[in-house]
Amino acid sequence: MSTLELFSLKAKQGFITGAARGIGKRIAEAYADLGADIAIVEVDMAEAEKTAAEIAEKYGVKCIAIECDVTSEQSVEAMIAKYESEFERIDFAVNNAGIANVIPAEEISAAEFKKVVDVNLNGVFMTAQAAGKLMIKRGTKGSIINTASMSGHIINRPQTIANYCASKGGVILLTKALAVEWAKYGIRVNCVSPGYIGTELVAAMKDMHPIWLKDIPADRLGTPDDLVGAYVYFATAASRYATGSDLAVDGGYTSI
Ligand code: NDP
Repeated sequence: MSTLELFSLKAKQGFITGAARGIGKRIAEAYADLGADIAIVEVDMAEAEKTAAEIAEKYGVKCIAIECDVTSEQSVEAMIAKYESEFERIDFAVNNAGIANVIPAEEISAAEFKKVVDVNLNGVFMTAQAAGKLMIKRGTKGSIINTASMSGHIINRPQTIANYCASKGGVILLTKALAVEWAKYGIRVNCVSPGYIGTELVAAMKDMHPIWLKDIPADRLGTPDDLVGAYVYFATAASRYATGSDLAVDGGYTSI
């Protein structure tokens, strides 16, 4: 296989959660550019339909939106049933949907704490499990990629996001656990840990950017473009011996 072929996604199919906008949308564009057919799995269908139509038109691949709230078992079951009816293969699944809320630990309610853990950790497990089951059923040696965060390694400041950090730390160990369990099926499970990336998720915390910059050796926030290489690496044969890996893409933040 040539080096370029190692990075191909021609004739491959899979889904990406939280891909109507932000990081997920950029990953979907990159995979489509490499030839993949994609399901944009999203809770907000209006935005998802728009993104899917844009990608299908621009890259000439199949790209459709499938509705799913990743926190609901029934919704994930319905999503995977719809995916199976629309796509012949499941080569990759990117479990990327995530949220944050900034509330001091001494004030946060149980409901607000659970809300973030439910999307970021339980949601990642449920959609990864759905993809893993389908790969096992089909005998596909697929690739599952979870979006973790540098917040699974360090504690951000000055924002107070204990639930977010706990959920992302969980994603990193969940990734390793699934990688070990599913290695016997040839299914690889890895995660990407982005640093601060300028999407809507962090736009709301604009007053904190100057404080964050002091701890970023690269001296800038990242962009979704900066993450493309990591997600392409894990989805393609280029990473065929990598499983249980967590790749930090954070401008050096977690190195200091
Ligand atoms: P965005 O808020 O731009 O995108 C997140 C997407 O997830 C949205 O499209 C959102 O849909 C979707 N989503 C939220 N809840 C659910 C749900 N219950 N079911 C299905 N989809 C849902 O965030 P980013 O692109 O910045 O973040 C993507 C991932 O990257 C997240 O996991 C985040 O934690 C992680 N990350 C982000 C960093 C950053 O600095 N931006 C840094 C490190 C990690 P809707 O619009 O309808 O809410």
